[in-house]
Formats: sequence, structure tokens, C-alpha cells
Amino acid sequence: MRVAALTCLLTLAGGTGALAAPPQPALLTTLERPDEPTTLEQAEPQRLVAVITKEQAISPLDYEPVDLVTWPGTDFAVRAEVHDQLELLFAAAEDEGLGLRVISGYRSHDTQAGTYGWWLRHNGRASADATSARPGHSEHQTGLAVDVDSTSGECYLDQCFGDTDEGRWVARQAHAFGFVVSYPEGARDTTGYAYEPWHLRYVGPQVAADMHARGIALLQDYASVPASSVRLGEALGSRG
Ligand SMILES: [Zn+2]
Repeated sequence: MRVAALTCLLTLAGGTGALAAPPQPALLTTLERPDEPTTLEQAEPQRLVAVITKEQAISPLDYEPVDLVTWPGTDFAVRAEVHDQLELLFAAAEDEGLGLRVISGYRSHDTQAGTYGWWLRHNGRASADATSARPGHSEHQTGLAVDVDSTSGECYLDQCFGDTDEGRWVARQAHAFGFVVSYPEGARDTTGYAYEPWHLRYVGPQVAADMHARGIALLQDYASVPASSVRLGEALGSRG
């Protein structure tokens, strides 16, 4: 499983060499040290794989990450390692002639409360729940989730993003950088969300590679498979 992931990474690393500026030396990232756990994989393995759904809240409810970094040229922030891994993902996409941009990142508990409240007031609870997450129930509050778009903007927050070259590339390659598409097509019964090809959740390269190798799309499915807990322990050490 790791071999497949590494081959993929080596292919990416062996491209034209036009990767963007190297990542921060303090962080261990996928392409630098493919065999080594990243900083977050070592320090916060459980946070990386914490399942957050409409039923399962983030803990604590008002959680706020301490290492948010603003994505250049935007008002959106993500955790430092997510920033660095996303930078590598964007650079690899650019090598293929594909332009990606960030269109959302961290959202605080209060921001989410405002967003959900707006939907609630204007469209009622059923519609609000179908469209938005209740405060404490959004992956965006973790600082590990990011919404992306092609630079053309033709499918901004639209399911047609999944049919663009950029969307297809992201769906195929995101795992190599530690991301999963949280709300894939046809999974609404499980996730509670319609297809969102633009919404990526960072779980770390090791878990993402393992999920990919096992053909498990959803983090909540992965987390509920007993064998994967063992595998998780092996991969990440017993620090959690
Ligand atoms: Zn999102």
C-alpha cells in the first residue's frame, strides 16, 4: 500500500522540477520525507482523523486551532501543515497545466453559527440542515478543511467542478498530499451532504494513502473499520 503511494509521490516529485518554493523546514511534508510521519501525524494523530458530521460534533465545541496560516492573496486560513501540503498539491497541479485556488478555509464556531442562523431564518431548519452545518459540526472549524476551485471560476461551489480537469485531478491525486474529498457523489445517505467535489479534508498523507489503497472514500467508514484502527496505530505510533 505504501509502495503505491510512494510511487505516486515519486512520479509527482520527478516531474519538471517546477515545484513551488520548498515547504517550511520545520515541517515534515510528504514530498520531503515520504517515509516519515508529518508534524501533525506525530503530534495530533487523533485530531487528524476525528470524524465530524451533522451528528458528531467537534471537541471541544468551540475548538480553535492555534497555528492558522492565511492563504496568500485571500482572507482564508488553514492550519500550517495543511497550507504546506496544499501548496504542494497546487504546484503539482500546475505542473499539469491546471490552476487551482482556495475559496474557503477555517470557519470559527461563531462564524458557523452566523451562517447556519442565516439559513435557518431564511429557509427553515430542514433547508438549513441540508445546506449548512450547525456550529461545532463543520469540518471547516478544524482548520483542516478547505474548499478549492479552478482558477477559471466557472464552477465556483458548483458540482460541475467535479467534471472539470481540475476537479478530476483533485479527486485522483488529493490523497497523495493527505487530503480526502469528504462528500463524494452518491454518499449523501451516509454523509448528510450532497456531492461537494470542492471540499477537501486533510487527514494526513499516511491515512489518506491507506484509505486510497483500501478503496475507502469516507473517513467515518475508515474510522469504523476495526482493522484500520490497528493500522492507524501502526502507522502513526501510539501517541494518540
Ligand atoms: Zn467546505
